Amino acid sequence: MSGQPNPEKTSYDLIVVGAGSGGFGAALAAARQGCRVLLVEKSGSLGGNAVRGGVNVWEPGVGGTGIPFELYKRLKGRENAVAIYSFGRHVAWESPEIQPHFPGGELVVDPEKSYLDTLRRFGAPPDFGEEHFRRKYWHGVLFEPDPYAAEMESMLRETGRCTVRTGTAFSEVHRDGRLITGLTLDNGEQVTAHYYVDATAHIVFARAAGEASSLGRESRSLYGETGAPPEPSPQLNGASLIFRVSGSKKLGVEPLPDDIPSHCWWQREFPAAVFAQSPAGDYTINPLPTMAGLEVEERGYPAAYRECLRRTQALWHHIQVTYPEFQNFRKVWVAPALGVREGPRMVGRYVLTEHDLDAGLSYQNHNDLIAISDHAKDTHGDSEAGGGAKELNEPYGIPYRCLLPRNTDNLLVACRGASFSSIAASSCRLSRTMMQLGQAAGTAAAIASSEKISSLVDVPPESLRQSLIEQRVELSWPRSPELNECLRNGE
Ligand SMILES: Cc1cc2nc3c(=O)[nH]c(=O)nc-3n(C[C@H](O)[C@H](O)[C@H](O)COP(=O)(O)OP(=O)(O)OC[C@H]3O[C@@H](n4cnc5c(N)ncnc54)[C@H](O)[C@@H]3O)c2cc1C
Repeated sequence: MSGQPNPEKTSYDLIVVGAGSGGFGAALAAARQGCRVLLVEKSGSLGGNAVRGGVNVWEPGVGGTGIPFELYKRLKGRENAVAIYSFGRHVAWESPEIQPHFPGGELVVDPEKSYLDTLRRFGAPPDFGEEHFRRKYWHGVLFEPDPYAAEMESMLRETGRCTVRTGTAFSEVHRDGRLITGLTLDNGEQVTAHYYVDATAHIVFARAAGEASSLGRESRSLYGETGAPPEPSPQLNGASLIFRVSGSKKLGVEPLPDDIPSHCWWQREFPAAVFAQSPAGDYTINPLPTMAGLEVEERGYPAAYRECLRRTQALWHHIQVTYPEFQNFRKVWVAPALGVREGPRMVGRYVLTEHDLDAGLSYQNHNDLIAISDHAKDTHGDSEAGGGAKELNEPYGIPYRCLLPRNTDNLLVACRGASFSSIAASSCRLSRTMMQLGQAAGTAAAIASSEKISSLVDVPPESLRQSLIEQRVELSWPRSPELNECLRNGE
């Protein structure tokens, strides 16, 4: 992978900006289907939040069957790179007499479970204290970030059609009427393509192209969402600085620098955290959260990251002091990127809302569904929006129009900043779902390219859906016996 521009190849069929879950899915799908693709990533590695944010967990959920399943299988070929998890301990399931409780939830490697077991979340009773359903159905995927990024790179390279530029950001968009005509990259290079995908999470590309966006909670009246606040609110889902601890032979508590208090100075008490056992045996710890989303915006990213580092030290100190079992662990890694769950979202041709989530596939009436999800409405402790997770009764679908901007015809947005209301985004933003949006975006670009369709709006939804189904993307529920069989046999 090179950070150096290749002066001979400045023209592509598709340029994808951002190489996280969405960008990887888009670049891979399009390159496999014959497009010459340029994938531009500003950081030094592929994988986005799953790698640099330390989110090495795919939570349970329908839909993770296309490219995510292939990536999982690739990781299975490497030692200790991937595992399936079940819930271990959970503070809500412990008897009140047990003191101290576990500091949150624990995800433990479960060799008895398979990938198929990870493909369901919906139907859980609302009360997290109910243990039976979650133990039975909630399994997910744990992976090691470095092999994950390395497998992404190999899969892209094997297409023979994807140029990957890491350490390169786009800095300027050029357009003519309703079409993007090219990008200037921050190394000064000019690149051009027929089609473009914004997979930057914060939709920096679509916003630079002049597309409308929204940030924070929409008012209840805007989309008629009963879960929305009466007035628009700047509230944002919390951000977490994930860290990793590794077993140590020496018992002890890691000391705090003098300028860091041992008590919690940002909430009433230290937040709970998700402890995910890594396939290699460490824990990654995901605090819920480390900083309110709005505070990240107000402080600005660099200052927010510095403050989150201090909070991480205090939280880890607190965990070691309060739960002596962790005195056998040492903090070995802190994510280089703060895990930001929510940012601006494009206002596209269709805005996915709470109505879609509540209607589910049984009652949604769209002919262009290109991914499905069943994750809860999950606002991570935002009290104004009710806080916590509100489980869904059945899976819902995401229409292709959520990727389509209103004013640009050769751009798709395939990342957590696609056209979702804040409530809808709190549900569908998971890594595997974003990878599937990417797979749909890349496929749409490939169809447009081969059919000589200049506007991505005109890609026929039935062709797009048919191609995705052929790529084993799950678009309906219950799952077809054929797909079930493929997943079982493909393990
Ligand atoms: C703390 C936290 C915990 C989470 N837990 C889970 C979980 O357990 N399970 C789960 O499935 N999901 C989880 N998620 C959600 C999930 O990780 C993200 O929503 C998902 O990864 C978003 O994918 P994406 O493609 O939209 O963006 P990202 O993965 O963030 O990728 C965006 C990429 O774009 C790049 N980029 C940005 N700007 C530019 C530019 N100008 N030029 C070039 N490149 C650029 C970035 O460097 C990055 O690599 C969690 C999220 C957070 C924050």
